[in-house]
Amino acid sequence: MNIPRTSSPRIVIIGGGFGGVALAKKLAKQEVQVILLDKNNYHTFQPLLYQVSTGGLEPDSIAYPIRKILKDFSNFYFRLANVEAIDTKKNKVVTNIGKLKFDYLVIATGSKTNYFGNSEIEKYSMAMKTIPQSLNLRSLILENFEAALLTSDLNERNALMNFVIVGGGPTGVELAGALAEIKKGILPKDYPDLDTRMAQIHIVQSADCILKGMSKKASEKAEEFLEKLGVNIWKNVRVTHYDGKTVTTNTDLAFETETLIWAAGVKGATIKGLDATELITRDNRLLVNEFNQVKGFEHIFAIGDIANMVTENFPDGLPMMAQPAIQQGEQLGSNLLRFIEQKPMKPFTFKDKGAMATIGRNKAVVDLKRFKFQGVFAWYVWMFVHLFFLIGFRNRMVVFINWVYNYVRFDREARLIIRPFKKNRKI
Ligand SMILES: Cc1cc2nc3c(=O)[nH]c(=O)nc-3n(C[C@H](O)[C@H](O)[C@H](O)COP(=O)(O)OP(=O)(O)OC[C@H]3O[C@@H](n4cnc5c(N)ncnc54)[C@H](O)[C@@H]3O)c2cc1C
Repeated sequence: MNIPRTSSPRIVIIGGGFGGVALAKKLAKQEVQVILLDKNNYHTFQPLLYQVSTGGLEPDSIAYPIRKILKDFSNFYFRLANVEAIDTKKNKVVTNIGKLKFDYLVIATGSKTNYFGNSEIEKYSMAMKTIPQSLNLRSLILENFEAALLTSDLNERNALMNFVIVGGGPTGVELAGALAEIKKGILPKDYPDLDTRMAQIHIVQSADCILKGMSKKASEKAEEFLEKLGVNIWKNVRVTHYDGKTVTTNTDLAFETETLIWAAGVKGATIKGLDATELITRDNRLLVNEFNQVKGFEHIFAIGDIANMVTENFPDGLPMMAQPAIQQGEQLGSNLLRFIEQKPMKPFTFKDKGAMATIGRNKAVVDLKRFKFQGVFAWYVWMFVHLFFLIGFRNRMVVFINWVYNYVRFDREARLIIRPFKKNRKI
């Protein structure tokens, strides 16, 4: 990989997401060599992916070049590489561009969509975990309306305008809210010759409420907001099959749809060589101790979504969210330096800052430790927090300007089919 060996200990980080970037920043300018490997040359701000899917934002406003984040640090190297395996005996990572030796390894590979073994749903549904997937979804949504215009078959037209979202967590809820706003504000203007009132948005949720991880009030209010926007919420229903046309469930309920969006869960993105069953816990995550050391290894660590750290308050592991990843990255930075200097490491404690979700214009729910609120103020808080955590001044400005523009004009100008997504259909 053309990276010189120096006298400084070499720390290899796999993944430039929330955890990997926080860690690399913490190690910048220290007496260590830091090598960050990622299969993309950009960091993705996943919480706003749904806005890319629904034409509210362009993808480049939620992505940021990893090299630029750490350009000022001479001890830092980035390589665009897909890590294929980890050789724990030889302390090497195996990638598509070659092998690399490490003294310390940090796995920050995040998670991937969990289809719970249902290969049929994996084949036909749409996921929203990456920017390319969000662009595919954006294209499909728009292509569906173009195709709906052309068909005289009523059933086919309805299926094209029927959107079924599986999963009533923050991703499903936010996406449903955005789609409902498109139906109300954009479709009648863009497709005056189509009866867009027939467009349907459904959330199918296996639990008895949406936003299950949040407070009862937040869940109830989110449901109320969505229902006012015309979203149909089906609780205690589990999707069992989808053949690309018909969604069936464990009840009598079935949907004819061209678009099934799978937002029902994620699982750890493990890598070969470090995926033995004794290391893996619930949701395919690597079991780590309070110092983020992977079970059975002193010099291999995992942070963020891929790491399953069990605590008293979180017996199933910390939530797969940005905050645990960032906090673990920062703390591991300090801990690695202590470890290298043979000083005792400090155990990680998660500072839970709460959770939030937006349900569209002027509507959000926010659960902080002490305060829980919903409505317009919550929406401002949601926007402020998301702008604050976006990486890069330009991205913050672009997102802010887009939001103001969209708010004032009731618009979403990024409704572009840049890279068509073909679902075996002529349009
Ligand atoms: C649609 C959506 C909405 C979300 N909304 C919220 C929200 O509102 N609030 C919140 O707190 N969290 C939210 N999350 C969750 C949050 O984004 C994740 O918890 C967070 O990104 C985890 O950070 P991470 O560093 O562990 O992994 P990630 O940020 O996922 O980064 C992993 C990195 O590893 C790289 N990688 C993976 N495998 C390899 C490999 N083999 N070789 C090289 N590189 C590799 C990837 O390219 C990626 O850059 C959302 C997630 C999604 C998908």
